[in-house]
Amino acid sequence: MKRIISIASIIAFALTVSITAQNNKRVSAKGLAVYSNDGQFKPYDFSRHAIGDNDIQIDILYAGICHSDLHHAHEEWGHEEYPMVPGHEIAGRVVKVGKNVTKFKVGDLAGVGCMVNSCGKCEFCLNNKEQYCTKVLMTYHGHDWAHENEITQGGYSNNIVLTEKFAIKIPANAQIEKVAPLLCAGITTYSPIRQVNVIKGDKVAVAGFGGLGHMALKYMVEIGAEVTVFDITDEKHDAAIKMGAVRYVNVNNPESLKGLENTFSFILSTVPAKYDPTVYMKMLKLDGQLCIVGLPAFNNMPSIGVDKFVFLGGRKVFGSQIGGIKETQEMLDYSVEHNLYPDVEVIKADGSTVTDAYKKVLNGEVRFRYVIDMKTLK
Ligand code: NDP
Repeated sequence: MKRIISIASIIAFALTVSITAQNNKRVSAKGLAVYSNDGQFKPYDFSRHAIGDNDIQIDILYAGICHSDLHHAHEEWGHEEYPMVPGHEIAGRVVKVGKNVTKFKVGDLAGVGCMVNSCGKCEFCLNNKEQYCTKVLMTYHGHDWAHENEITQGGYSNNIVLTEKFAIKIPANAQIEKVAPLLCAGITTYSPIRQVNVIKGDKVAVAGFGGLGHMALKYMVEIGAEVTVFDITDEKHDAAIKMGAVRYVNVNNPESLKGLENTFSFILSTVPAKYDPTVYMKMLKLDGQLCIVGLPAFNNMPSIGVDKFVFLGGRKVFGSQIGGIKETQEMLDYSVEHNLYPDVEVIKADGSTVTDAYKKVLNGEVRFRYVIDMKTLK
């Protein structure tokens, strides 16, 4: 009898060791990376940190291409570390959960946006604005202070491991191939629209009619606002009107800006290149607000002279960065419930296709967001 018990305890011990070892095992991953700022994507094999007690592993189904990915890949926002796997618009399925996880179970759909962790203790975190936490950990190009400072890698890959707190629940009835861009383009526009409380009948505008801009248009049309769209060509006129815009303005045609001074209560600028923000300040009416979310290259950054804040007073200008996790969940539930999805072009997960897609984003050819089908990654 004694012998049976001791054999049983040896087996139990061996099982525990093997489970622990498995839990401590790094997760192998493969993706598409840039190896320098030349924008050329090539396959990249790497590994992610082990699945901790509060972590989940998501197998990635789709990853959106945000213009921020281009800014990073092309090293327009300062020094980068390569190889870099971009991607912070991620939709996938949970395949493993740590022992303390309560929000997800294996098989659930889950999304990841621009952040994968934060301190959880500062004023920003405690007020659900984790994006402004000084320790916020970005989904890629972040130094993971909880995992020996290893560099995070993003969603142009087959999987991701993160704490459940920063993963977003995707309703099972969502149009999954269109969900990924909501995790960045969606929340970055939804958040300021809610901050300024756009309501039915408001005269509002969106500058830059791309991935972010077309989501801003959709949200504000849904609210019942009268939305004007500004962009730099005539090419997207019909698409804007079809999505519900009341007016489309090509800013490269100065004539079309005439008569728009003191018109809008809110303008959201998503412009990713150098421009003159005072053009938009002048179009605000009394107490109108200009929110800037577009973030051009650091060496080509637009600026507003302090004199303009004085002489164009009576209006407000502010910036906004994505949105907190709680608001991102709210945005996703709202978008799915109201059938508000980005217009997407699904592309294959191979290096040359993604390289080509970056060029097309820069040339204004995408309508309106590329989404990489990560299931096609070889
Ligand atoms: P896109 O490239 O999809 O869209 C940008 C749009 O702006 C395009 O339609 C482009 O026209 C248009 N545009 C370019 N120059 C001008 C101009 N001078 N005036 C008006 N429109 C112009 O980019 P995204 O929507 O993905 O991103 C937009 C910006 O927002 C980027 O800088 C990105 O980094 C930033 N961003 C910021 C976030 C935040 O948290 N604040 C989060 C996510 C993104 P065309 O297509 O013809 O070139």
